Amino acid sequence: MTNKVPELFGSMVFNEAVMKERLPKDVYKALKCTIRQGTALDPQVAGVVANAMKDWAIEKGATHFTHWFQPMTGITAEKHDSFISPCSDGTVIMEFSGKELIKGEPDASSFPSGGLRATFEARGYTAWDPTSYAFIKDDTLCIPTAFCSYTGQILDKKTPLLRSMEAISKEACRVLKLFGKNVTRVTTTVGPEQEYFLIDKEDYKKRPDLILTGRTLFGAMPPKGQEMEDHYFGSIRPRVKAFMSELNEELWKLGINAKTEHNEVAPSQHEMAPIFATANIATDHNQLTMEVMKKVANRHGFVCLLHEKPFEGVNGSGKHNNWSISTDKGENLLDPGSTPAENAQFLLFLTAVIKAVDDYQDLLRISVASAGNDHRLGANEAPPAIVSMYVGDELGAVIKSIIAGEEYKSEGRKAMKIGVSALPEIPQDNSDRNRTSPFAFTGNKFEFRMPGSSFNIACTNVMLNAAVADSLMLFAEELEKAEDFDAALAALIRRELAAHQRILFNGNGYSAEWPIEAEKRGLMNLRSTPEAVIHYTDEKNVAMFGRHGIYTLTEMKSRQEITIEEYVKTIHIEALTSLDMLKKQIVPACIGYSKELAETVAVKKSIGVNAPAEVAKVQVLTAKTAELIEKQEALEAAVDGAPEACVDKAMYCHEAVIPAMEAARKVADELEMMVSKKAWPFPTYADLLFYV
Ligand code: ADP
Ligand code: MG
Repeated sequence: MTNKVPELFGSMVFNEAVMKERLPKDVYKALKCTIRQGTALDPQVAGVVANAMKDWAIEKGATHFTHWFQPMTGITAEKHDSFISPCSDGTVIMEFSGKELIKGEPDASSFPSGGLRATFEARGYTAWDPTSYAFIKDDTLCIPTAFCSYTGQILDKKTPLLRSMEAISKEACRVLKLFGKNVTRVTTTVGPEQEYFLIDKEDYKKRPDLILTGRTLFGAMPPKGQEMEDHYFGSIRPRVKAFMSELNEELWKLGINAKTEHNEVAPSQHEMAPIFATANIATDHNQLTMEVMKKVANRHGFVCLLHEKPFEGVNGSGKHNNWSISTDKGENLLDPGSTPAENAQFLLFLTAVIKAVDDYQDLLRISVASAGNDHRLGANEAPPAIVSMYVGDELGAVIKSIIAGEEYKSEGRKAMKIGVSALPEIPQDNSDRNRTSPFAFTGNKFEFRMPGSSFNIACTNVMLNAAVADSLMLFAEELEKAEDFDAALAALIRRELAAHQRILFNGNGYSAEWPIEAEKRGLMNLRSTPEAVIHYTDEKNVAMFGRHGIYTLTEMKSRQEITIEEYVKTIHIEALTSLDMLKKQIVPACIGYSKELAETVAVKKSIGVNAPAEVAKVQVLTAKTAELIEKQEALEAAVDGAPEACVDKAMYCHEAVIPAMEAARKVADELEMMVSKKAWPFPTYADLLFYV
């Protein structure tokens, strides 16, 4: 296989090479212009493209096409149509028109819309996004599309992402112009590192909690967890290696640059990182990656768990969103330059990001809010729920000296170089690591570590792009008016860094002191999804999204409602699954096992042998089981006591249902340690995490 990778790569993608080969020159040129510059596509051009796509897809074995889109469920959706078109003589021909390529009309009534679209107005439409290549998956030509309601409101995750990319491009170009650069397009680049667990399919099938909720709701810690630190970067077991090889092959066919693979910290946890792409393509590719991971796992007798916290007591899974901004000429705007002028430009963009993260910390937190991720954020393993930024010691010192108006001196280096804009030279090796920071500068990009492993990264990148676009817009407005650009630039950078330095934190984000310090600084600590999502429609957020034409208030309200509803539904399903397992499996197992023991006692007694140890065990077991039944009833009462209104319900889930679930779990896990392995009704953590 290895020597065939170049041929394999992108073989299922209608990419630029295929376009160039199969499209007439003028059509190819027009399409490329649309892809690069976002210009509208001529319907006639679309017709030619559609036909070429169809011929190519049929040669690759495709029989159907679909508009592939990303509704608010967080996963992707597709409705397949075959290419067949009947002829009068009873035969069929294979057809695909420009109209079908550009626009689709799936029945949208069953997708969450957060009250945006009444059911009688079920129609929505999908529109081709030519900036992301069409591809073939399962004998179906998939056309990446945006999804809107007929009244024009957006119903998906791709449209706002494309809008936010437009916004940041526009404002960044304005800023670059001030530096004398004529750049027509700037794109945000993203490289998402995807963490996941692989467990044996046979074990999975025996766990209703994994099947219904994606995570274990019960399970005592095994004798060994991750304390030996022997899994991280450890050698990959052959069964997993075989999975990874096939995964790579499948991803490469789809043109996804799968690059890095390794074992993660927790047992049975792994990671895959692709080479970065534009935010839009990276999002599409990450959605596909998650889907392909699940499919390939299944072929290898595994189940791939993408839940943020499948197992208590070992690390959960996240998705690090590496993010930067590049010009169409390939200049990375977050790469410190080697001349003072380049440095000044870098510092302005850096300042824009710092301001954006500080001003919109709530939006970043909201973009990663879910019932699953609540188990990660703030726990002692993942970034805390408080958004802060890490820039490294050197860059931190540079920022300090700018704020203080002092010369920057670094040990063993040249003193600060005063250039056109009186800003210091940036040290080159500024990528020291701080693994506890939620938002870390890593040399030429930022790594946002809060997203959960199952998330669609579109939302996070919408927030980031929009917030940074907003900083850049304000900066451009001010600097465009300046008479002395260099002086105004230096003053602006100094002022803004001083105003936003509270968001910079280079210390240990897991420490007990940090939340106290963060509170003093006035940073938000939004511990749970309901606490976070409430802030989505805060006035400043509505105004910001409005300014850049990304979301209307109605659209924001609908998104807020969907997130809250999803949270409530998730907790509800988890609580019902807990109750089910308690009533039908755990409690009966405990009763059965103590009965078995009691019978042993009786038999021993009948031959005149006293068994005080067994008697004591029966007593303890009986008492613990009674306690468990009590907790089960308390959980049932908590579920029944939920208030009607959705927002109240979400808070109630957080404050009443989850604690009741955890209380029952604690007792059940204690019982697991007391009952024989044979009598326990499902595989334990040791079985799940340490398979061969
Ligand atoms: P780490 O040490 O965190 O693994 P890497 O350099 O391997 O760092 O990068 C991690 C991810 O960041 C990869 O997906 C990589 O492609 C991505 N990345 C690198 N440069 C950029 C960039 N300019 N913009 C966005 N992502 C980037
Ligand atoms: Mg990383």
